[in-house]
Amino acid sequence: SQHALNNGAELPKHARKIGVLTSGGDAPGMNAAVRAVVRYGLSKGCDVYAVYEGYQGLVDGGKCIRKMDWKSVRGWLSIGGTTIGTARCMPFKTREGRLQAAENLVKEGISSLIVCGGDGSLTGADVFRSEWGGLIDELKQNERITPEEADTYQHLTIVGLVGSIDNDMSSTDITIGAITSLHRICESVDSINTTALSHSRAFVIEVMGRHCGWLALMAGIATGADFVFIPERPPAGDDWETAMCEVAHRHREMGKRKTVIIVAEGAIDRSLNPIKAKHIKNILTDRLGLDTRVTTLGHTQRGGSPAAFDRILATTQGVEAVDAVLRSSPDTPSPLIGISSNKVTSGPLMKAVELTHEVAKAISEKNFARAMELRDPQFAEEYEAYNTSTILDDKSHLLPEHQRLRVAILHVGAPAGGMNAATRTAVRYALNRGHRPFGVYNGFPGLVRGSFEELTWISVDGWTSHGGSELGTNRAVPGKDVDMGMVAYQIQQHKIQAVILIGGFEAFSSLMKLEEAREKYPSLCIPVCHIPATVSNNVPGTDYSLGSDTSLNAIVESCDSIVQSARSSRRRVFVVEVQGGKSGYLAVEAGLASGANTIYIPEEGISLSRLQSDVKHLMALYMDDAADRSEGRIILRTEGVSETYTTDVISNILKDEGHHLFDSRTAVLGHIQQGGTPSPMDRIRATRLAMRAMQFMEKHTSEALNTAFEQKRDEPTPIELTKSKDSIAVVGISGVDVIYSSVQDLLPKTDLKNRKPRGAWWYEHRPLVDMLSGRGLFTKQQ
Ligand code: ATP
Repeated sequence: SQHALNNGAELPKHARKIGVLTSGGDAPGMNAAVRAVVRYGLSKGCDVYAVYEGYQGLVDGGKCIRKMDWKSVRGWLSIGGTTIGTARCMPFKTREGRLQAAENLVKEGISSLIVCGGDGSLTGADVFRSEWGGLIDELKQNERITPEEADTYQHLTIVGLVGSIDNDMSSTDITIGAITSLHRICESVDSINTTALSHSRAFVIEVMGRHCGWLALMAGIATGADFVFIPERPPAGDDWETAMCEVAHRHREMGKRKTVIIVAEGAIDRSLNPIKAKHIKNILTDRLGLDTRVTTLGHTQRGGSPAAFDRILATTQGVEAVDAVLRSSPDTPSPLIGISSNKVTSGPLMKAVELTHEVAKAISEKNFARAMELRDPQFAEEYEAYNTSTILDDKSHLLPEHQRLRVAILHVGAPAGGMNAATRTAVRYALNRGHRPFGVYNGFPGLVRGSFEELTWISVDGWTSHGGSELGTNRAVPGKDVDMGMVAYQIQQHKIQAVILIGGFEAFSSLMKLEEAREKYPSLCIPVCHIPATVSNNVPGTDYSLGSDTSLNAIVESCDSIVQSARSSRRRVFVVEVQGGKSGYLAVEAGLASGANTIYIPEEGISLSRLQSDVKHLMALYMDDAADRSEGRIILRTEGVSETYTTDVISNILKDEGHHLFDSRTAVLGHIQQGGTPSPMDRIRATRLAMRAMQFMEKHTSEALNTAFEQKRDEPTPIELTKSKDSIAVVGISGVDVIYSSVQDLLPKTDLKNRKPRGAWWYEHRPLVDMLSGRGLFTKQQ
C-alpha cells in the first residue's frame, strides 16, 4: 500500500459514502463481507449504503439503496447466501442502464462502490468506472444532475471482492464461498460413500465448475474418489474410458466395495469433447458390470451457513476493501482484494480478470499445461498428491528394490482431524513406490511394546473421512515417558528405516529427543518427519496443523447455537471456554468467525482493568439495544489463560456487574472441539503433507542406500542411514508452500515453556474481534 490511508472522518462528505453490493451467483461468506464493510466503514467515520439486488438495485435506485447502521448487519456472519440480494441484471450491461445507475449514485451522494461477485460482476464494475466520466457528462448535459453534482462526483472508486464458490479467480489463492461449497460436497459424497459401500455400487457425482475443476479435484482428494474429471487437465491419452475402467477394476480387485467418480460440470477430454456423467455411468455399467448411479449435487453446493474459513476470509477482506477505498485515488487502477499465502492482498482488478479469462482460453486452445499453471500454485501439487495417493497405479512408480523402505507411522498426542487421512496417504504413496508401511498402535508406548502392523492398500480405505485416530494416539514422549533404549531396540528389531510422527507439540518434543538420542543409537540415525496435527495449532514450522480447521468449525457451530440461545433468552452473555493450551489461535479465529464480543487469550492474559473495561463495554451495548430486542453475545476464553480468572469467575463477575442490564452463563466446549468428521481442508492438507513426508524419507535415504548397493551388493542394508540435521524435521505449510524445517532450525523460533512457536500469523486478526463488536464506537458514546 504505497498510498497513505485516509481517515474517513477527515474526508469531505461525498468521499465518505461507500456503497456495497453483491452480484452474480450467491456465495457463502458474502454476508460476512458486507458486515465487515459496514462495521469497519462506520468505525472509520464513513457512511455505508447497501445496494440491494446487485446491479439491478443500482439501476432501480430508490428503496434499493439503503443506509446501514451498526445493527443492520447483526447476526449476518452465520447466514449463507447474501441477505442484500443478488441478481443477474441485463440493463447494467447496457450504457443506458449504467447511465441510470450513475444518476442514482450521484443523487444518493455515493462515489465509492465495493462489489462482491464473480469475474462477470467485477468486469461490469470496472466498465462502469472507466465510463464514469462520460456518464457524468451526459447526465449533466441532459440536466439529470446539476453542474455542481457533476463537479463533485468526477470519479468513481471501485473495489472488488471475489465471491464465488468455484474458486475460479486468478490472483487470489481462494475465493469467498469455495471452502463452504467444498464442505457441502464432501458431506454429500461421504453420505453417498456409505450407500455405495452397502450395495457395492458405483456412483458418478457431478459437481459445479464450468471452467474450473477446483471443487471436483479437492472433493476427490478429500473423499478418496477413485477418479476425477476436471476441465484443466483432461485424462491422458485418447481412450480415457479404458484407463478409467482399469483403475476402477484395479481398486475393486484390491477389495474395494464401492466406486466413486467425481466429474466437474465442465469436464472435457483432450479433444475438448464434454465428459458427461451419464456417459461415464454407461461405461461402468457396460464394461465392468457395475450397478452405477448418477448424482448431480446441484444447488446444495451453494452452501448454506458459511464455514469458519469463509467467515474469516470475508471479514478480513471486507476490512481491507474499506481501507482500499480510503487509500484510493483517481489515477490508480481499481483494486481487487485477494489472499496470497495467508495475507490479504490488493492488486489490479482487471489484470486478475484477464488472467482468469486466460484459463478458459488456454483450455480452448488445448494448452492444458498453461491452464494448470494459471490456477493457484497449490493446484498442480494437489493434483499430483491425488494421483499418487488415491489411484493404485500400474507399478510405473515403483522404486528400484534397494531403495524401498520400511516406514513406521505413529500418532502422538491428542486426537486431531486429519491424522487418519495423513496416514492413509502416506501408506498409499508408500505402496505405489514399493515401500512397506507399518502402523504403530498407541504411539510410543505401543512402539516399545512392538505393536507394529503392516498396513495394506485396502486397510486404510475410507480413512480420509474418519475422525480421531485409527491407530490410537498417546501423549508419551520417548526419553521422558518411555525408555529411549527400547524405542531404538524396536526400531532395529523391525528394521524400520524411516519414521513419520503425526501429532502435536508432544510429537515435536519427541522429535527433539530422538535427535539427541542419535548419538547413542545407530538405529535412530534414520529420517524422522513430523506432520503437525493438533487442534491448538501450536506446532512450530507450520501455519496450520491438521485438526485446527476441523476444531475451528466445531467451535463456530457450537458458538452459533449458543448465540442463538443467548439471543432468545435476551440480555444474556455466554462465557465460552475453548481449548488451545497456551495458544490463542482457536479463540482468535473462532472469535472472528462467530462474532464474539471479546476474547481472553494467553498471549494477553486477563487483568482487573481489562475486565472492568469489558464490563463497561457490555453495559454500553446493552443500554443501546432496544428494550426487548437485545443481541446474543459471547465471550471466548482460552482454557489456559489465567488461574485466577476462570470461566466461572468471569461469568460471575459479569452477572454481578451486569445488574438489571444483562445476565451471564458459561459453556465449556471440551472434547467436542476435536470435531467428528475432519473438515475438507484438514483432509486436503493431510494428503499434501503426507505425500511430502514420504518424499522426505526418500530424499534422506537414497544416498546411503545407493552407496551401500554399489559397494557391497550382497550385504544387508546399513542400519545407519543419515545423521544430517535436516533429516529430522517438521513438514509444514508456509503460505501456499510446503516446507521442511529441521528441529535445529526451529528451536530458536520455539517457546518451549509455553509449547508454541514465537510469533504467529493469525495474531494480526486479534484487534478485528474487538473492533467488529463495536468497541470504541459504543464505549465512546457513553
Ligand atoms: P458467477 O461466478 O456466479 O458466474 P459472475 O459475477 O461472473 O458470478 P455474471 O452473471 O457473469 O456473474 O455477472 C453478474 C452481473 O454482472 C450481470 O448480470 C451483469 O449485470 C453484470 N455484468 C457482467 N458482465 C458485465 C459487463 N461486461 N459489463 C457490464 N456489466 C456486466
